[in-house]
Amino acid sequence: MFTLETAATAAYVVAALLFILALAGLSKHETSRAGNSFGIAGMAVALVATIALALARHIEPLGLVLLIVAMVIGAAIGLWRAKIVEMTGMPELIALLHSFVGLAAVLVGWNGYLHVEGDAAGAEAAQLANEGMLGIHSAEVVIGVFIGAVTFTGSVVANLKLSARMKSAPMMLPGKNFLNVGALVVFAALTVWFVIDPQLWLLIVVTVLALLLGWHLVASIGGGDMPVVVSMLNSYSGWAAAASGFLLGNDLLIITGALVGSSGAYLSYIMCKAMNRSFISVIAGGFGIEAGPAEDKDYGEHREITAEGAAELLAGATSVIITPGYGMAVAQAQYGVADLTRKLRERGVEVRFGIHPVAGRLPGHMNVLLAEAKVPYDIVLEMDEINDDFDGTSVVLVIGANDTVNPAASEDPGSPIAGMPVLTVWNADNVIVFKRSMASGYAGVQNPLFFRENTQMLFGDAKDRVDAINAALSVGEKV
Ligand code: NDP
Repeated sequence: MFTLETAATAAYVVAALLFILALAGLSKHETSRAGNSFGIAGMAVALVATIALALARHIEPLGLVLLIVAMVIGAAIGLWRAKIVEMTGMPELIALLHSFVGLAAVLVGWNGYLHVEGDAAGAEAAQLANEGMLGIHSAEVVIGVFIGAVTFTGSVVANLKLSARMKSAPMMLPGKNFLNVGALVVFAALTVWFVIDPQLWLLIVVTVLALLLGWHLVASIGGGDMPVVVSMLNSYSGWAAAASGFLLGNDLLIITGALVGSSGAYLSYIMCKAMNRSFISVIAGGFGIEAGPAEDKDYGEHREITAEGAAELLAGATSVIITPGYGMAVAQAQYGVADLTRKLRERGVEVRFGIHPVAGRLPGHMNVLLAEAKVPYDIVLEMDEINDDFDGTSVVLVIGANDTVNPAASEDPGSPIAGMPVLTVWNADNVIVFKRSMASGYAGVQNPLFFRENTQMLFGDAKDRVDAINAALSVGEKV
């Protein structure tokens, strides 16, 4: 028989399919817009179906009002934030959103406890006990609360680090690995105890333990590994949502949580491979990474160049590779860079882009900016596709990149970013580095590239400097 309940269940299946199509679409530049639209449609269907399901289950009027008010407030805040967020602020916003998923999972878990285990004489507890499911419910509560709480504080720390309100250097408590592993062992023991005898104090201890563990895990991870942490928290937030789905008996939440959980885990794995980091070491909170002594090495003198000098060098070049980084995003220099690319190509110079997998503060950050400025896709290459071509290139423009072009990663085994593959820009004939000072990049490591003989620094805001080069090239064109 066709009821509101069956219609809502069918809508859940449709929403789940739309979410799968969204993931498939988002995996390629060309289909990413369609992917986004599928995701939006899936979420709209899911929200309407949730209200329909609540009506079918005869939700109390006050509950319905609260549900709708919460959705309207949430949608308004979401729209407002999405409108004002800068591209450079996206990673920290995403980290904050992950923290909400974690917090929601903790609240759902606690709600489950208060309705069932905390109300042993109640109808729900009696029904579950009859079905022999009480133990499973308790396990769902404690596991959901644990994953949710780790995600919550972990994401808050990630947000603080990404927005530079907390130092990006790893926190080094004595015996930090022992603390992490110890917390997991204690959690496993408390889970068994809670399933056998679900007492309130046990759930309180698990919640506090998980909150502390989430904080410690992410605080102990250093600058260069943060990209993996962001996608790993994405994965955790998915598993937290799936755990809530089990507790609420909501299939769509289970499917969506599993999709987010597994795609986040896979993305973390790809990023670890790209950065030559061990997946286990990163998820265990920087396991095995010890703090090195403070650096005070003398790298010698650096050379500087003016925008006019750079324009002259570019005008005489046959091939140019541009390697953008976080600074291009901060300066919003992508439009000027697109203009420069067009100008140089018109003069017959071969121009290509080399994109490091973790350039910027978000996977794909540089690709999005360049696409926004209408740089053609076919000259934007991944690191692996272009790394052998620096040798023989006339000029490399390093625009606001630092860690991703640091030779110490491949040449200095003692460097905190040792082993991370980098763009080998120093093999080109000339390297021009656009930045405002000699300050280090996100990982807080000095960059010997700046002191190489074929490197010249072009100081100032990247957008101003690129515009000045464009102006100088235009003057050259008119002459
Ligand atoms: P970095 O963050 O290493 O360096 C950026 C450089 O840009 C700085 O040295 C800064 O120097 C310069 N800069 C900042 N603002 C401007 C401006 N307005 N004009 C000109 N220059 C500017 O950049 P990369 O992209 O090379 O590396 C990314 C780093 O971020 C890696 O360590 C990566 O691990 C990490 N990360 C990446 C994430 C991702 O998913 N992609 C997520 C989280 C972290 P100065 O101040 O002197 O101008």
